Amino acid sequence: MLISLVIPVYNEGFRVADNLKLIVDAASHAGHDLELLAIDDGSEDNSCREIEKLAEQDSRVQLISLTRNFGKEAAIYAGLELAKGDAVVVLDADLQHPPRLIPAMIRAWEEGAYIVEAVKQERNDPSWLDRWFAKGFYWLYRILSGFDIRGHSDFKLLDRQIVDVYLALPERYRFFRGLVNWLGIESETLPFEVEERLGSTSRWSKVKLIRYATNNITTFSTIPLLIVTWLGSLTLGTGIVLALITLWQKLAGMSEAGFTTVNLLLIVLGGAVMTSLGIIGHYIGRIYQEIKARPVYVLKPTKRKKPCSSPDL
Ligand code: UDP
Ligand code: MG
Repeated sequence: MLISLVIPVYNEGFRVADNLKLIVDAASHAGHDLELLAIDDGSEDNSCREIEKLAEQDSRVQLISLTRNFGKEAAIYAGLELAKGDAVVVLDADLQHPPRLIPAMIRAWEEGAYIVEAVKQERNDPSWLDRWFAKGFYWLYRILSGFDIRGHSDFKLLDRQIVDVYLALPERYRFFRGLVNWLGIESETLPFEVEERLGSTSRWSKVKLIRYATNNITTFSTIPLLIVTWLGSLTLGTGIVLALITLWQKLAGMSEAGFTTVNLLLIVLGGAVMTSLGIIGHYIGRIYQEIKARPVYVLKPTKRKKPCSSPDL
């Protein structure tokens, strides 16, 4: 049996080769053939070259090089598409997904599991803001999409059959964690503690993370569009009540200079209209992206033997 390890890499620096070695070593304890696909997601540092060097030493390691930074989801997708294994394990390059769990995941798969998920026990986010953000995201995701993926991570083993089903889904924008959960296939879970990220900080900027969270929620839920309708009905309802009150005041001769009401109405209505347009705009944007049907990632041309070599080499 062949096990594929799919690892997205973006600017992981000198540490990356050691980390990948450690991952292969840990996985080899399961006693299967291995292939490790390191997907360089357009790193601007030496990650690509480090992986290339490792691939020359160890034939199990393959470098897959994307032309630019397409994002972690695209890198995972590329890896899944190119993996040949009977089972595929997806994990991070920074060892935050402990490789020592891999043999246990493989064992669960041998015993019949189609999906083995490593589930986070405790969030070790360095700041309360990150923790709060993650909690907020999972809460909103659960409320709006109806799927509870708290604690889920991208650290998963998928059987070949599941990989094929996943790849056959037609959509471009993918939220790996959410989409695997959406398949509804029963999975085995293994608890794990997220390790400290050594050396550097997360590869995600706050802006990138917020965009990621918004996209993930809207690909799984159209409720925000319904909220627009509810908001509209609510404002209309309030408007009718206010109109009746004003009319009654007018008829009873008690009408006042209603600046406050007018101002409040302007602000509330303006805000509601703008927000609603924004939400609708976001969905139209997503439809536009999907309909263009561009490939999720682009591989570097391979005619030149070394995809990483830069002009200064
Ligand atoms: N990563 C990637 N492309 C990106 C950002 C991250 O391939 O644009 C990779 C990164 O190298 C790592 C994994 O995705 O292997 C998770 O990234 P990170 O550790 O920065 O995220 P976090 O642990 O904070 O979720
Ligand atoms: Mg990490």
